Amino acid sequence: MSTQLLSILTPMYNESEGIDFFFETLEAAMAEIDIDYEIICVDDGSADDTLEQLQEHARRDRRIKVLALSRNFGKEAAMTAALDHATGDAVLPIDADLQDPPELITQMVDKWREGYTVVYAKRASRKADSLLKRQTAQWFYKLFNRMSEIDIPENVGDFRLLDRRAVDAIRQLPEKDRFMKGLFCWPGFKHAVIEFDRQERAQGQTKFNYWRLWNFALSGITSFSTFPIRIGIYLGLTVAFLSFMYGSFVILKTIFTGVDVPGYASLLVTILFIGGIQLFFLGLLGEYVGRIYKEVKNRPIYLVAEKWGFDERDQP
Ligand code: UDP
Ligand code: MG
Repeated sequence: MSTQLLSILTPMYNESEGIDFFFETLEAAMAEIDIDYEIICVDDGSADDTLEQLQEHARRDRRIKVLALSRNFGKEAAMTAALDHATGDAVLPIDADLQDPPELITQMVDKWREGYTVVYAKRASRKADSLLKRQTAQWFYKLFNRMSEIDIPENVGDFRLLDRRAVDAIRQLPEKDRFMKGLFCWPGFKHAVIEFDRQERAQGQTKFNYWRLWNFALSGITSFSTFPIRIGIYLGLTVAFLSFMYGSFVILKTIFTGVDVPGYASLLVTILFIGGIQLFFLGLLGEYVGRIYKEVKNRPIYLVAEKWGFDERDQP
């Protein structure tokens, strides 16, 4: 049993205030579980002393490994870096702010040992979040699941346990635009769900404001669904059909009752309406073209500046 290795993955961006407490809590929780583990911390180009502190911890405990990215690449890229460096039989991403309680890991490991490939930790309540955030999150999940071919479970963040089989599958996905919530679900497999109450951040501030979340949602939907551009087809057909009906009506009316000039208002409204729809779908198409552009450039998802603790040569 204890020859199994669990890789705990933590992206960190300006988390210096909370690091000591994070390791303390996590290590206390891990001490209760009969499993070997490694903690892979990715410093996502922090501006504070997150990296120095991580090195300190890596020096203290060989199980703590550190990847320093060359700049801030975003949480999704940092998570990808961690996934690429994990060697465990199972992998467990967890946030550095302790909003994902490490006490849950023991239950997740149990489920995994029962034979589940993926174990989700679902937020039973989101009391820590504002009403607006809860509501918008709910809309996002509804919309996403309706449009895309895969279903992502509602109120599940990156906190989950993935067996090596799922990790290998995810690592085969070559896209540069990494919507991890979607990618984590793409392989499927047998899954179990554990519920928990999500707490407030232990320290510091969230890195995701509404603008960032909006872009995140847009990126998620467009990378897993082409339904939005398809709406254009149906809307175009509907408008064309209505125009045909109205055109026939106007022609017949002219034939039977003669020429009649008024109609300025309806003309203007129609032109503006169609112009608006065209611009909207042009923008939407642009969004997809931009994504294709990003993929064909084929730039690396992240750059590692330095690493510590991965083998004999890179000890801190
Ligand atoms: N994070 C990161 N890079 C970023 C932003 C965030 O690695 O550009 C990390 C952050 O340090 C934390 C996790 O992602 O460990 C979740 O961030 P946060 O708690 O701000 O998100 P929220 O819980 O508000 O969704
Ligand atoms: Mg958080």
